[in-house]
Formats: sequence, structure tokens, C-alpha cells
Amino acid sequence: MAQDVKKLIIIGSGPSGYTAALYAARANLQPVVYTGYQHGGQLTLTTDVENFPGFPEGIQGPELMANMRAQAERFGAEMRDRDVTAVDFSRRPFRVTTGVKPFGPGDDEVEEAETVIVATGASAMWLGAPGEEEYRGYGVSSCATCDGFFFRNKRMIVVGGGDVALEEAIFLSRFASELTLVHRRDSLRGSKAMQDRALANGKITFAWDTVVEEVLGEKNPETGAARVTGVRARNVKTGEEKVMPTDALFVAIGHRPNTHIFHGQIPLDERGYAVSSDPGGTATAVDGVFVAGDVRDHHYRQAITAAAEGCKAAMDVEKWLEEHGEKDIDRTGEVYAGLMIEPATEPAVEPATEPAVEVGASHR
Ligand code: NAP
Repeated sequence: MAQDVKKLIIIGSGPSGYTAALYAARANLQPVVYTGYQHGGQLTLTTDVENFPGFPEGIQGPELMANMRAQAERFGAEMRDRDVTAVDFSRRPFRVTTGVKPFGPGDDEVEEAETVIVATGASAMWLGAPGEEEYRGYGVSSCATCDGFFFRNKRMIVVGGGDVALEEAIFLSRFASELTLVHRRDSLRGSKAMQDRALANGKITFAWDTVVEEVLGEKNPETGAARVTGVRARNVKTGEEKVMPTDALFVAIGHRPNTHIFHGQIPLDERGYAVSSDPGGTATAVDGVFVAGDVRDHHYRQAITAAAEGCKAAMDVEKWLEEHGEKDIDRTGEVYAGLMIEPATEPAVEPATEPAVEVGASHR
């Protein structure tokens, strides 16, 4: 193997990226992990994580991610806190270009690898309302499965009108003392079946034609404790503004996969999610490129499912390298027509606040 060509580059530092790094490092693949400048994924933006097995008392999201990173490093995974700015999978070895955003252009680094695991995650779309970011993790959430339990017998608001908002509202109605679904239009986008179930749920009330203008809360400057107390909402038809008291705000207005650098490099679906070539597997149509976690899976989006996919991807890479013995791997740098993926048009996405985490974002 050429000396400077890595066996494996992992892009992303959520649970899938770090788990892939752990497995690959223990398999002696000496993976290089491009973690992103802001590493650790979406879990670094949260507080308590109570549904990751192995922590009976729960664990703080940032601590869980720091532990995953340290565990992979212990076996020799090399972490580079750089953002991947471009990839070239049309030639072998694959080429990955990185930079460190705050230092601007001129800091580019190009690394080559026989295999790549794409584990860049997906980011929740946020409203961009004042207070939303401030109270994220303290009552503002994008994951009902993760955080609903913390607000048992409390008031809740869900924002959105798609299947996920309806699913989350139905799920949360089991815990909430009262629950309002706030939607910006007067008809829902979700499937008929989900609409019927939500509309028939006596616990859910609907605030139609309504947008959240601001998240209200209170903070204790001494202890740092914070909590949401309500939202300032506006009816888009009448212009009427009101304060809706709540203890939790679940924003369910869609997710965006972090795949902008992979257009034309690996197959993406119409919403921009990476597509694996066999269902449940991690291989892609580009031989030697694998995908793991929320960048591919828009259904489960849990830390544990992302971690499981990272494990699978590392094992798939190990098998791939075994099967493609030293002599079979072409390093001429030629462009292979068969590797080229038709450049996809950028999927249409609603404008939303840019997520704080660009690479490695993975939901829990
Ligand atoms: P979605 O279908 O795109 O719905 C997003 C919702 O958020 C829409 O109602 C949209 O309003 C609203 N929204 C978007 N931006 C907003 C903003 N800035 N402020 C306020 N509201 C905003 O997304 P999703 O619900 O996450 O679902 C994603 C995909 O997964 C969909 O294709 C869905 O059908 C699928 N899914 C299917 C199932 C199932 O079949 N059981 C379950 C879950 C998800 P508008 O309606 O006005 O655009």
C-alpha cells in the first residue's frame, strides 16, 4: 500500500463516526477521522441522555461523545478536527480535502484513502426564533423520543404539520398534561392516516395558521439552570399575537442530511439522504465508499442506531479490504467511468437556521 494512502478515512464524529473509528482501530485499520471543527455531532448540543444503554443514571450528551472519542483514540484512531470541504470518489485512491473554517482558505489539506465511511449525520431544522437556541436542551428539543420523558405531566408544544410532527405529538400525548400542535397553515402535510389519528386524539389541540415568534424562558444566572416557560406566537391570518405557556417545545419541521459535499459523488435520494446499495447495509454504489448513521437513515435517528451502523460500516470496510488484496487496489488515480455518479441537483430544502454542527451531526 502506498505509504501516504490511508486504509480508511471516516468523515463525521457523531455516534456512527466514532463507533466506526473504534471498530476500525481495533481491526488495525488505523483510521483517520475527520471530525469537523465542531466535533461530536448533535449530542454535544443536548444535556441528559437517558436512552443510551450502559448508563443507568443517564449521561450528559457532550460527555458521552467525549467518551466515544477517547475510546476510539485509545485503539489508535487519529482524530483531525477539520471540516471536509470536498471529496473526489471518481478516482482511486479516493481523495478528501479538508480545511479549518476559522482559518479560512489556504489551509487545505488533501488526504487519500482506499475506503471512506461517510457518517456526517443529519441536522434538525430549526425555526430560527429568538430564544430557541438559548433554551435548546432546556425545554427546546427536536426529538420527542429522547426528551419527552423529561416533561411528564407538563405542558408541551409541537411545531410542524408533517408526519414527524404528528407522530411526535401522538407519542408525547401519553406524557403531556396538555399538548398543542402549532402549524403555520390550516391543513396538515402528514399522511391521511396520521392526520386521522392526531385529529382523533383528545389530548392534542391544534393552533392553526400560527407561527412561533419567540421562545420564552427563565434562567438562573448563578446555577445556570434554565427552563422554557412559553412561546410568543402569531396568527399569520389575523396578525393576533399571544403568549402560549408551555414547559417544552418540540420542533419537528424536518431534517437536513449533511451531504452537500457528496453531490455527484455517491447516490443521494430526492431529499439528499445517502443511499446504500442494499437495504440495511452500508455499502454504496461506489465500491469502497460506505455510509452510516443519520446521513442515510431518516427513520430511526437515534444515537444507538447510528452507532450500530458505524459498527456495521467498519466491519464492511474490513471485509472489503480483505477481499481487495493489496494487488487488486488500483492507485493510478485514473477516473473510472463506472464510479461516476450523475451529479444530482441540489434537493430543495426549506431555508432554516444553519445547524451549529456541520460534520458528524447525528441525532439521538
Ligand atoms: P415534512 O413532511 O417536510 O414536514 C415538515 C413540516 O414542517 C411541514 O408541515 C411544514 O409546513 C413545517 N415547516 C417547515 N418549515 C417550517 C418553518 N420554518 N416554520 C414552521 N413550520 C415549518 O417533514 P417531516 O415531518 O420531518 O417528514 C419527513 C419525511 O418523512 C416526509 O416525507 C414524511 O412523510 C416522512 N415520514 C413518514 C412517516 C410515515 O409514513 N409514518 C413517518 C415520519 C416521516 P408546511 O406544511 O406548511 O410546508
